Amino acid sequence: MSKFASFFNADVKFTIQAQPLPELKAGEILVKNLCTTLCRSDIHTYLGKRIEKSPTILGHEIVGVIQELGPDAPIKDMRGAVLKLGDKVTWAIYASSPDDALSKVAIPQKAKDLFKYGHEQITALSQFHGGLSEHTLLRKNTPIIVLKAHLPNEVASLINCSVATVAGAVRLAGTIKDKSVAVYGTGMLGIIACAMVSKMGASKVIAIDENKERLAMAMQFGATESSLPIQSNHHKVDVVLEFSGSLTAMQDSINLLNIGGIVIWIGAVFPQPAVALNAEYMIRNILTIKGLHNYNNEDFVNAVNFIENNYTNFNFEQLVKTGFSLDQVTAAFDYAVAHNPFRVSIDLSNEK
Ligand SMILES: [Zn+2]
Repeated sequence: MSKFASFFNADVKFTIQAQPLPELKAGEILVKNLCTTLCRSDIHTYLGKRIEKSPTILGHEIVGVIQELGPDAPIKDMRGAVLKLGDKVTWAIYASSPDDALSKVAIPQKAKDLFKYGHEQITALSQFHGGLSEHTLLRKNTPIIVLKAHLPNEVASLINCSVATVAGAVRLAGTIKDKSVAVYGTGMLGIIACAMVSKMGASKVIAIDENKERLAMAMQFGATESSLPIQSNHHKVDVVLEFSGSLTAMQDSINLLNIGGIVIWIGAVFPQPAVALNAEYMIRNILTIKGLHNYNNEDFVNAVNFIENNYTNFNFEQLVKTGFSLDQVTAAFDYAVAHNPFRVSIDLSNEK
């Protein structure tokens, strides 16, 4: 039997249940979860701001260890390491066919047969697909990477949503070395972005947020300057990474750009009014806007490499509020809503 928190909706919330573990099918891997961090999108679902088909198992920022390898399970991970029982692993938020047309152009997160951890309905045939659970059943075609065993669980959990999404944004932005970068919105993703572009050699990193405490935190993670949104028009940069999702930020992010600049929009993953664009301004300043939702295999590998190389350079652990077990999942969400820390984690390492 394996225990999980089944989420119904914003009124009913969670019930703790247990089910027998299924027999593994071809290509599947069973993971014993160690830790799950609650992503902003999980909290939106908890509050009813985002609707998932329910009942569901929330949580997609997960780390665990391999408990069982199914028949024809992959032999090696994405970096060529041999997969063994007991390996600490992270895996992509998505599983999709590599033969899909979108997978072939490096957008596997939008392939037709997409399966998304932490976002699926519990049915008789589909269970153990989220992080608020003792186990995750990794489907065939799930990108998986073996981690350094001593990587702290709370930091490793961040990799497969926050860090990989930032890695995707940075990829789309192109060369970072010697470029000036503004990071708009310094929640978890913005903080990671400051750290990542600083390590990639950005000439300056300007953190922009309304929250002064978050700006102060960004300065500990590679930002070289900080700015309130209202003062952001004092700056011009080559690259803007927009994580806040606010309409003003979207418009500011264009005005912040130098000639030839690029902005990546990542934050606006909820219903939006239209952004007013001045075409002549875009043309005469030779500007580029790109959008990004989730990430691809290359970003996922880059995210793991970044965290393994830098978890001792930046104190990511201080961003995660720990101390909640699976049975305390409602308290953990309520804490996240009331106190708005960068992340709240659910410790699953003591579950049987
Ligand atoms: Zn997420």
